[in-house]
Amino acid sequence: MKVEIEKAAALLEEGNVVAIPTETVYGLAANAFDEDAVRKIFEIKGRPLFNPLIVHIKSIDFLEHLVNNIPPKALQLAQHFWPGSLTLILPKKEIVPNIITAEKDTVAVRVPNHPVTLALLDILDFPLAAPSANPFGTISPTEAKHVIDYFKDTIPMVLDGGICQNGIESTIVGFEFDEPVLYRLGSITVEEIEKIVGRLSIKNKKEVAPDAPGMLERHYAPKTKTFLETDVNAFIQKHPDKKIGVLLFNQRTENHDLIHQEILSENGNYKEAALNLYAAMHRLDKLGLDLIVAERFPDIDLGKSINDRLERATKN
Ligand code: AMP
Ligand code: MG
Repeated sequence: MKVEIEKAAALLEEGNVVAIPTETVYGLAANAFDEDAVRKIFEIKGRPLFNPLIVHIKSIDFLEHLVNNIPPKALQLAQHFWPGSLTLILPKKEIVPNIITAEKDTVAVRVPNHPVTLALLDILDFPLAAPSANPFGTISPTEAKHVIDYFKDTIPMVLDGGICQNGIESTIVGFEFDEPVLYRLGSITVEEIEKIVGRLSIKNKKEVAPDAPGMLERHYAPKTKTFLETDVNAFIQKHPDKKIGVLLFNQRTENHDLIHQEILSENGNYKEAALNLYAAMHRLDKLGLDLIVAERFPDIDLGKSINDRLERATKN
């Protein structure tokens, strides 16, 4: 692994884009202080320039190089959850290029919890700007092979760190008058955050935060037309002549044998379901089906974050 990490470091130092593993999803990374390198990320992903990137740092100590005025509750959250799947939005220092923040005066930062990427960050003398390693709007990658399928002809290296152990993106928290506001549901639950800093206001929908990026209604989407339903069996019965793929929480449907089924967690464990979500979507999307139908999760714990991704995946 050491050789691969050193090769990735050399490529990044020369201004290239390299795919890196994190505990959430794979990222398309570049030197955060090199505007030209960061611009390549947007080009490769087909990401609009108004959609800012997350900056990945090696430890909480690096935070002060990038941001000003850290609210006390931000510090508490960083101390509690880093390294981990919580991204904080804070007032940026000049050193952070505007292309990363889509001209905003705030920057998104986190310390990822993946040994390979932490080792990589440790030998670099710059942080890594990285969005998810998928073409804009498509299903996020949770294995190196997903990234290779998307980008084998356009990036020089995918640093393989195995399967991402959380499987959905980080939770994003910003601050309004020093109080925490949730902008994106993710791997860390609302309940976990509220245990540390008390009540969290939630503004993850366009209606409540029209200017916040990354809340695009259609996102994380398979190519196959996808639906989100509480009663999956009723949906299947309504479409007798279609080849359907089914994405279920914990129980198979007995509906009929020809249906392709993905069970996200047989034990009904939300963490396991989140970890399997995108890989199951990738598999179903490759089967040449007419339709995919996903089961709506209970609206608690990581079920909330999974429903958020499924809602965006099924928007037209
Ligand atoms: P991705 O890396 O693909 O998960 O996308 C990163 C997301 O981080 C963006 O889509 C935004 O929602 C969010 N983000 C990054 N920077 C900011 C910022 N300064 N203010 C608000 N949201 C941000
Ligand atoms: Mg993304």
